[in-house]
Amino acid sequence: MITMKILTVGGGAREHTIVKALHHGGAEIYAVMGNKNPGIARLSKEFLLEKGTNIDDVVDWAVDKKVALAVVGPEAPLGKGIVDELEKKGIKCASPNKNAAQIEISKEFMRNIMQKYDLPGKVDYQVFDDIEEIEDFLTHYEGELAVKPVGLTGGKGVKIMGEHLENKEEVIDYCHKVLENKIGGSSKLILEERLKGEEFTLQVFTDGENLIPMPLVQDHKRLFEGDEGPNTGGMGSYSQADGLLPFVDSKTYDESVSIIKETLRALKKEGVTYKGVLYGQFMLTKKGPKIIEYNCRWGDPEAMNVLPLLENNYVEICKNIAQGDISDLEVSFEKKSSVCKYIVPEGYGIDPVSGAELEIDEDAIESEGAQLFYASVDEKDGKIYTTTSRSLAVCGYSEKLEEAESASERALSHVKGDKVHMRHDIGKPESIERKLKHMQEIKGD
Ligand code: AMP
Repeated sequence: MITMKILTVGGGAREHTIVKALHHGGAEIYAVMGNKNPGIARLSKEFLLEKGTNIDDVVDWAVDKKVALAVVGPEAPLGKGIVDELEKKGIKCASPNKNAAQIEISKEFMRNIMQKYDLPGKVDYQVFDDIEEIEDFLTHYEGELAVKPVGLTGGKGVKIMGEHLENKEEVIDYCHKVLENKIGGSSKLILEERLKGEEFTLQVFTDGENLIPMPLVQDHKRLFEGDEGPNTGGMGSYSQADGLLPFVDSKTYDESVSIIKETLRALKKEGVTYKGVLYGQFMLTKKGPKIIEYNCRWGDPEAMNVLPLLENNYVEICKNIAQGDISDLEVSFEKKSSVCKYIVPEGYGIDPVSGAELEIDEDAIESEGAQLFYASVDEKDGKIYTTTSRSLAVCGYSEKLEEAESASERALSHVKGDKVHMRHDIGKPESIERKLKHMQEIKGD
């Protein structure tokens, strides 16, 4: 077999997971990352320290290295059209082009498509660019709202009435701030109905026509235990061996798959063929699953729950996606539960302590039935230090959720460092119980 040269873009734990799976599938890795990820660096034939959004430099390097295929991790280079430029040079991509990436990059585009085709899972919304129109709208609006900048904000620009915003005055103040400071890149925002329920993630492989759904995952965005504190990029996540979640049955799973299927069909009608991994963030409400947002790539941390359990060769899947036909693929995942926990610098999201040393016993982590995924760390003289972003994730896998959770905890004990923070509650029975109870309350409302 000829070894396939694959370009990967991105240097987080999600990309470490992608690189592990591609490397395991026999690929020769050429990695581009902004900051040196020790895990990716180790598995790469060569790597380039460069931002993925510096598209010209990345494409030149990929051409020079004669890579045959590319897999792009983060949304920013996808939104800037890295796939279009790579494909112009004859490099096939298992990720969406610029038009397709709009499903994440522009919340307005996404909501408009769902509205135009009257898709299941859509929510009521309105787009604004004028504060007076917002004030007028609010005088007549009865319910609670979510305020969302139209563009990318790393999950930190959304504010919810009843959670972050007390009343209509605070909504108006925040809207003013978004429009004035162009939060998310433009003077535009969406007001949409506030959804109540439990969130979950469904990721699919797709060629734009066919889709292969993966096991569900539940992420934990809040910084502190008990789902308190500010939203983060994600503090950890869990999945169940049967592919469902304690509060999601197979009927809801099927409904969620068909929402994504209908969305892909609508995109096709708009002349957009989406290929890659499509990530649906759902809220399970009293009225069934609704789309909170779509992402045009793997989730972080959700990739760590699911991708290591893939039983197929990931290189083969990427080849099929890039060629635009996955109809012949039969994909399966090991029937295991998983619990992923992030270690972040103390003060993460508020006033993070960077430069704190982490001592990591990788062999001990593996021996616990867990895996380690590096995210944003600095490596100096063989030692690892925190930066201001999430440092690393450990993920435990086992048939039983409780066992996967204890594996993740044992793995955490092999990472030593002061000045770090993590959430121990993720995947624990009490935490699951709380989510189940919450869902019952929502349904019984
Ligand atoms: P997003 O950037 O759209 O994923 O939003 C970030 C977070 O805000 C989501 O994970 C939800 O927890 C919350 N959120 C977004 N939209 C809504 C909504 N319409 N109702 C309630 N919560 C929402």
